[in-house]
Amino acid sequence: MITVLSGGVGAARLLRALSAVIDPADLTAVVNVGDDLVMHGLTICPDLDTITYTLTGRNNETLGWGLEGETWRVMEQLRALGGDAWFGLGDLDLATHLYRSQRLAHGATKTMVSAELGERLGLRIGLLPVTDDHVATMFETERGTLTFQEYFVQHHHDVDVRSLRFAGADTARLSLESRRALVEAERIIIAPSNPLISIGPMLAIGGVRTLLAERRDTVVAVSPIIGGAALKGPADRLLRELGHDVSCVGVAQYYEGLIGTLVIDEADAALADRVAATGCEVRVTTTIMANPDHARTLATTVLA
Ligand code: GDP
Ligand code: CA
Repeated sequence: MITVLSGGVGAARLLRALSAVIDPADLTAVVNVGDDLVMHGLTICPDLDTITYTLTGRNNETLGWGLEGETWRVMEQLRALGGDAWFGLGDLDLATHLYRSQRLAHGATKTMVSAELGERLGLRIGLLPVTDDHVATMFETERGTLTFQEYFVQHHHDVDVRSLRFAGADTARLSLESRRALVEAERIIIAPSNPLISIGPMLAIGGVRTLLAERRDTVVAVSPIIGGAALKGPADRLLRELGHDVSCVGVAQYYEGLIGTLVIDEADAALADRVAATGCEVRVTTTIMANPDHARTLATTVLA
Protein backbone atom coordinates (compact mmCIF):
# COMPACT_ATOMS: atom_id res chain seq x y z
CA MET A 1 0.00 0.00 0.00
CA ILE A 2 1.22 3.45 -0.98
CA THR A 3 -0.23 6.65 0.48
CA VAL A 4 0.20 10.00 -1.25
CA LEU A 5 -0.25 13.31 0.57
CA SER A 6 -1.98 15.30 -2.12
CA GLY A 7 -3.03 18.76 -3.22
CA GLY A 8 -4.69 19.22 -6.62
CA VAL A 9 -3.06 19.31 -10.04
CA GLY A 10 0.53 18.33 -9.15
CA ALA A 11 -0.77 15.46 -7.03
CA ALA A 12 -3.27 14.28 -9.63
CA ARG A 13 -0.50 14.04 -12.22
CA LEU A 14 1.68 11.96 -9.91
CA LEU A 15 -1.25 9.75 -8.86
CA ARG A 16 -2.09 9.13 -12.52
CA ALA A 17 1.52 8.20 -13.21
CA LEU A 18 1.67 5.92 -10.16
CA SER A 19 -1.55 4.15 -11.08
CA ALA A 20 -0.01 3.26 -14.44
CA VAL A 21 2.82 1.34 -12.74
CA ILE A 22 1.09 -0.20 -9.70
CA ASP A 23 -2.39 -1.55 -9.05
CA PRO A 24 -4.57 1.51 -8.33
CA ALA A 25 -6.22 -0.49 -5.56
CA ASP A 26 -2.90 -0.26 -3.68
CA LEU A 27 -2.85 3.54 -3.91
CA THR A 28 -4.53 5.99 -1.52
CA ALA A 29 -4.55 9.78 -1.75
CA VAL A 30 -4.86 11.71 1.53
CA VAL A 31 -6.05 15.07 0.30
CA ASN A 32 -5.91 18.71 1.38
CA VAL A 33 -9.22 20.37 2.25
CA GLY A 34 -7.82 23.85 3.01
CA ASP A 35 -9.11 25.16 -0.35
CA ASP A 36 -12.65 23.91 0.23
CA LEU A 37 -15.39 26.49 0.18
CA VAL A 38 -19.10 27.00 0.40
CA MET A 39 -20.49 28.90 -2.58
CA HIS A 40 -24.20 29.34 -3.36
CA GLY A 41 -24.77 27.06 -0.38
CA LEU A 42 -22.76 24.27 -2.08
CA THR A 43 -19.70 22.62 -0.57
CA ILE A 44 -16.90 22.56 -3.13
CA CYS A 45 -13.71 20.53 -2.64
CA PRO A 46 -11.33 21.55 -5.44
CA ASP A 47 -8.42 19.23 -4.63
CA LEU A 48 -10.59 16.13 -4.11
CA ASP A 49 -12.43 16.84 -7.36
CA THR A 50 -9.27 17.56 -9.38
CA ILE A 51 -7.96 14.14 -8.40
CA THR A 52 -11.24 12.36 -9.13
CA TYR A 53 -11.64 14.05 -12.50
CA THR A 54 -8.01 13.57 -13.58
CA LEU A 55 -7.79 9.92 -12.60
CA THR A 56 -11.04 9.05 -14.33
CA GLY A 57 -9.97 10.80 -17.54
CA ARG A 58 -12.49 13.63 -17.16
CA ASN A 59 -10.13 16.52 -16.45
CA ASN A 60 -10.49 19.57 -18.69
CA GLU A 61 -6.96 19.72 -20.13
CA THR A 62 -7.54 23.11 -21.75
CA LEU A 63 -8.62 24.87 -18.58
CA GLY A 64 -6.42 22.78 -16.30
CA TRP A 65 -9.37 22.35 -13.91
CA GLY A 66 -12.96 21.19 -14.06
CA LEU A 67 -14.52 18.71 -16.45
CA GLU A 68 -13.87 17.98 -20.09
CA GLY A 69 -16.76 18.92 -22.41
CA GLU A 70 -18.02 21.41 -19.83
CA THR A 71 -20.70 24.03 -20.63
CA TRP A 72 -21.48 27.21 -18.66
CA ARG A 73 -25.19 27.90 -19.08
CA VAL A 74 -25.91 28.09 -15.36
CA MET A 75 -23.11 30.61 -14.83
CA GLU A 76 -24.33 32.73 -17.78
CA GLN A 77 -27.81 32.85 -16.33
CA LEU A 78 -26.46 33.56 -12.85
CA ARG A 79 -24.43 36.46 -14.25
CA ALA A 80 -27.53 37.76 -16.04
CA LEU A 81 -29.33 37.70 -12.70
CA GLY A 82 -26.54 39.73 -11.13
CA GLY A 83 -25.40 36.78 -8.99
CA ASP A 84 -21.90 36.00 -7.78
CA ALA A 85 -20.25 34.46 -10.83
CA TRP A 86 -16.53 35.02 -10.23
CA PHE A 87 -15.98 31.42 -9.14
CA GLY A 88 -16.58 29.37 -12.29
CA LEU A 89 -18.76 26.34 -11.80
CA GLY A 90 -19.57 24.43 -14.99
CA ASP A 91 -22.92 22.80 -15.60
CA LEU A 92 -21.54 19.27 -15.26
CA ASP A 93 -19.26 20.14 -12.35
CA LEU A 94 -22.27 21.54 -10.48
CA ALA A 95 -23.74 18.05 -10.29
CA THR A 96 -20.76 16.98 -8.16
CA HIS A 97 -21.30 19.87 -5.76
CA LEU A 98 -25.05 19.31 -5.62
CA TYR A 99 -24.51 15.64 -4.85
CA ARG A 100 -21.92 16.37 -2.17
CA SER A 101 -23.89 19.16 -0.52
CA GLN A 102 -27.08 17.15 -0.33
CA ARG A 103 -25.27 14.15 1.19
CA LEU A 104 -23.50 16.38 3.74
CA ALA A 105 -26.84 17.96 4.64
CA HIS A 106 -28.13 14.44 5.31
CA GLY A 107 -25.30 13.76 7.73
CA ALA A 108 -22.74 12.00 5.51
CA THR A 109 -19.09 12.91 6.08
CA LYS A 110 -16.78 14.32 3.41
CA THR A 111 -14.94 11.00 3.61
CA MET A 112 -18.11 9.08 2.77
CA VAL A 113 -19.09 11.44 -0.03
CA SER A 114 -15.60 11.31 -1.59
CA ALA A 115 -15.80 7.52 -1.69
CA GLU A 116 -19.30 7.60 -3.17
CA LEU A 117 -18.36 10.09 -5.89
CA GLY A 118 -15.20 8.11 -6.62
CA GLU A 119 -17.16 4.90 -6.98
CA ARG A 120 -19.84 6.43 -9.21
CA LEU A 121 -17.22 8.02 -11.47
CA GLY A 122 -15.04 4.92 -11.70
CA LEU A 123 -12.11 6.10 -9.56
CA ARG A 124 -9.89 3.12 -8.74
CA ILE A 125 -7.58 4.63 -6.11
CA GLY A 126 -8.57 5.34 -2.51
CA LEU A 127 -9.51 9.00 -1.98
CA LEU A 128 -9.57 10.43 1.53
CA PRO A 129 -10.01 14.01 2.68
CA VAL A 130 -7.34 14.45 5.38
CA THR A 131 -10.03 15.48 7.87
CA ASP A 132 -13.81 15.69 8.09
CA ASP A 133 -13.44 18.84 10.13
CA HIS A 134 -13.25 22.39 8.85
CA VAL A 135 -9.81 23.70 7.82
CA ALA A 136 -9.56 26.89 5.77
CA THR A 137 -6.36 28.40 4.41
CA MET A 138 -6.36 32.18 4.95
CA PHE A 139 -3.96 34.74 3.47
CA GLU A 140 -2.83 37.90 5.21
CA THR A 141 -2.02 40.16 2.27
CA GLU A 142 -1.37 43.75 1.28
CA ARG A 143 -5.13 43.88 0.58
CA GLY A 144 -6.14 42.48 3.96
CA THR A 145 -7.26 38.97 4.88
CA LEU A 146 -8.32 36.81 1.94
CA THR A 147 -9.90 33.36 1.81
CA PHE A 148 -8.25 30.78 -0.40
CA GLN A 149 -10.46 31.34 -3.43
CA GLU A 150 -10.42 35.15 -3.02
CA TYR A 151 -6.63 34.93 -3.18
CA PHE A 152 -6.46 32.33 -5.92
CA VAL A 153 -9.37 33.08 -8.23
CA GLN A 154 -10.49 36.64 -7.51
CA HIS A 155 -6.95 38.06 -7.24
CA HIS A 156 -5.32 35.45 -9.55
CA HIS A 157 -2.73 34.93 -6.75
CA ASP A 158 -1.21 38.25 -7.83
CA VAL A 159 -1.15 39.95 -4.46
CA ASP A 160 1.66 40.13 -1.88
CA VAL A 161 1.21 37.63 0.94
CA ARG A 162 2.58 38.39 4.42
CA SER A 163 1.51 35.24 6.22
CA LEU A 164 -0.69 32.17 6.00
CA ARG A 165 -3.11 30.76 8.53
CA PHE A 166 -4.92 27.43 8.54
CA ALA A 167 -8.12 28.29 10.38
CA GLY A 168 -9.49 25.30 12.25
CA ALA A 169 -6.36 23.17 11.88
CA ASP A 170 -5.56 23.34 15.60
CA THR A 171 -8.79 21.53 16.49
CA ALA A 172 -9.33 19.48 13.30
CA ARG A 173 -8.78 15.75 13.70
CA LEU A 174 -6.95 13.63 11.18
CA SER A 175 -9.70 11.27 9.99
CA LEU A 176 -9.43 7.65 11.17
CA GLU A 177 -9.24 6.53 7.54
CA SER A 178 -6.43 8.95 6.74
CA ARG A 179 -4.58 7.98 9.93
CA ARG A 180 -4.79 4.34 8.94
CA ALA A 181 -3.60 5.15 5.42
CA LEU A 182 -0.59 7.01 6.85
CA VAL A 183 0.24 4.39 9.48
CA GLU A 184 -0.22 1.28 7.38
CA ALA A 185 1.33 2.41 4.09
CA GLU A 186 4.58 0.80 3.06
CA ARG A 187 5.63 4.17 1.77
CA ILE A 188 4.29 7.70 2.02
CA ILE A 189 4.81 9.99 -0.92
CA ILE A 190 4.44 13.75 -0.65
CA ALA A 191 3.20 14.82 -4.09
CA PRO A 192 4.82 17.70 -6.00
CA SER A 193 2.04 19.92 -4.71
CA ASN A 194 2.41 23.43 -3.37
CA PRO A 195 4.27 22.83 -0.06
CA LEU A 196 2.85 25.92 1.66
CA ILE A 197 -0.82 25.81 0.70
CA SER A 198 -1.50 22.24 -0.42
CA ILE A 199 0.66 20.18 1.95
CA GLY A 200 1.05 22.81 4.71
CA PRO A 201 -2.62 22.69 5.81
CA MET A 202 -2.34 18.91 6.30
CA LEU A 203 0.91 19.21 8.25
CA ALA A 204 -0.86 21.69 10.55
CA ILE A 205 -3.35 19.04 11.69
CA GLY A 206 -2.48 17.50 15.03
CA GLY A 207 -0.43 14.33 14.80
CA VAL A 208 0.45 14.49 11.11
CA ARG A 209 3.97 15.85 11.51
CA THR A 210 4.75 13.31 14.26
CA LEU A 211 3.38 10.48 12.19
CA LEU A 212 5.65 11.41 9.28
CA ALA A 213 8.69 12.13 11.47
CA GLU A 214 8.43 8.72 13.15
CA ARG A 215 8.66 6.93 9.82
CA ARG A 216 10.54 9.48 7.79
CA ASP A 217 12.87 6.88 6.21
CA THR A 218 9.82 5.69 4.25
CA VAL A 219 8.60 9.18 3.30
CA VAL A 220 9.53 10.43 -0.17
CA ALA A 221 8.67 13.90 -1.46
CA VAL A 222 8.83 15.19 -5.03
CA SER A 223 9.84 18.83 -5.52
CA PRO A 224 7.25 20.99 -7.30
CA ILE A 225 9.95 23.63 -7.80
CA ILE A 226 12.13 23.07 -10.85
CA GLY A 227 14.91 25.46 -11.80
CA GLY A 228 13.71 27.95 -9.19
CA ALA A 229 10.14 28.11 -10.52
CA ALA A 230 6.80 26.35 -10.12
CA LEU A 231 5.39 24.80 -13.28
CA LYS A 232 2.06 26.42 -12.46
CA GLY A 233 0.55 28.48 -9.67
CA PRO A 234 2.06 30.62 -6.92
CA ALA A 235 4.38 28.16 -5.13
CA ASP A 236 7.53 30.04 -6.16
CA ARG A 237 6.20 33.49 -5.35
CA LEU A 238 4.80 32.33 -1.99
CA LEU A 239 8.07 30.65 -1.01
CA ARG A 240 9.89 33.92 -1.69
CA GLU A 241 7.34 36.12 0.07
CA LEU A 242 7.32 33.91 3.14
CA GLY A 243 11.09 33.83 3.41
CA HIS A 244 11.95 30.43 1.99
CA ASP A 245 14.61 29.56 -0.56
CA VAL A 246 12.86 29.42 -3.97
CA SER A 247 14.32 26.10 -5.07
CA CYS A 248 14.21 22.41 -4.27
CA VAL A 249 16.52 23.32 -1.35
CA GLY A 250 13.73 25.46 0.11
CA VAL A 251 11.34 22.53 -0.36
CA ALA A 252 13.78 20.20 1.44
CA GLN A 253 14.10 22.71 4.30
CA TYR A 254 10.32 23.03 4.56
CA TYR A 255 10.02 19.23 4.89
CA GLU A 256 13.10 18.86 7.09
CA GLY A 257 12.70 16.09 9.65
CA LEU A 258 9.61 14.72 7.89
CA ILE A 259 11.07 13.11 4.77
CA GLY A 260 13.76 10.53 4.14
CA THR A 261 14.16 11.35 0.45
CA LEU A 262 13.52 14.28 -1.87
CA VAL A 263 13.22 13.67 -5.60
CA ILE A 264 14.50 16.67 -7.57
CA ASP A 265 14.60 17.44 -11.26
CA GLU A 266 17.64 16.92 -13.48
CA ALA A 267 17.66 20.69 -14.00
CA ASP A 268 18.52 21.00 -10.29
CA ALA A 269 21.21 18.30 -10.15
CA ALA A 270 23.75 20.92 -9.04
CA LEU A 271 21.69 21.53 -5.88
CA ALA A 272 21.77 17.87 -4.76
CA ASP A 273 24.46 18.49 -2.13
CA ARG A 274 22.56 21.39 -0.60
CA VAL A 275 19.40 19.27 -0.48
CA ALA A 276 21.34 16.42 1.16
CA ALA A 277 22.68 18.89 3.74
CA THR A 278 19.12 19.24 5.10
CA GLY A 279 19.41 15.60 6.18
CA CYS A 280 17.65 13.62 3.47
CA GLU A 281 18.60 11.39 0.59
CA VAL A 282 18.36 12.90 -2.87
CA ARG A 283 17.25 11.30 -6.13
CA VAL A 284 17.68 13.19 -9.37
CA THR A 285 15.41 12.37 -12.29
CA THR A 286 13.06 13.86 -14.87
CA THR A 287 10.08 15.18 -12.92
CA ILE A 288 8.02 17.06 -15.53
CA MET A 289 5.03 14.79 -16.01
CA ALA A 290 3.62 16.44 -19.16
CA ASN A 291 5.83 13.90 -20.92
CA PRO A 292 4.33 10.42 -20.28
CA ASP A 293 7.74 8.69 -20.37
CA HIS A 294 9.05 11.12 -17.76
CA ALA A 295 5.93 10.62 -15.65
CA ARG A 296 6.55 6.87 -15.70
CA THR A 297 10.21 7.34 -14.80
CA LEU A 298 9.23 9.59 -11.91
CA ALA A 299 6.62 7.10 -10.67
CA THR A 300 9.16 4.29 -10.79
CA THR A 301 11.74 6.42 -8.98
CA VAL A 302 9.46 7.35 -6.06
CA LEU A 303 8.50 3.68 -5.64
CA ALA A 304 12.06 2.35 -5.91
P1 GDP B 1 -3.36 22.77 -6.95
O1 GDP B 1 -3.89 22.41 -5.61
O2 GDP B 1 -4.28 22.38 -8.08
O3 GDP B 1 -2.83 24.16 -7.05
O4 GDP B 1 -2.14 21.83 -7.21
P2 GDP B 1 -0.98 21.26 -6.33
O5 GDP B 1 -0.68 22.04 -5.12
O6 GDP B 1 -1.18 19.79 -6.19
O7 GDP B 1 0.17 21.41 -7.38
C1 GDP B 1 0.72 22.65 -7.76
C2 GDP B 1 2.20 22.43 -7.96
O8 GDP B 1 2.37 21.31 -8.82
C3 GDP B 1 2.91 23.57 -8.62
O9 GDP B 1 3.80 24.12 -7.69
C4 GDP B 1 3.66 22.91 -9.80
O10 GDP B 1 5.01 23.34 -9.88
C5 GDP B 1 3.59 21.45 -9.46
N1 GDP B 1 3.55 20.59 -10.63
C6 GDP B 1 2.58 20.54 -11.57
N2 GDP B 1 2.90 19.63 -12.51
C7 GDP B 1 4.09 19.11 -12.15
C8 GDP B 1 4.97 18.16 -12.74
O11 GDP B 1 4.72 17.58 -13.80
N3 GDP B 1 6.14 17.88 -12.07
C9 GDP B 1 6.47 18.50 -10.89
N4 GDP B 1 7.62 18.17 -10.30
N5 GDP B 1 5.67 19.41 -10.32
C10 GDP B 1 4.50 19.72 -10.95
CA1 CA C 1 -5.56 23.17 -4.34
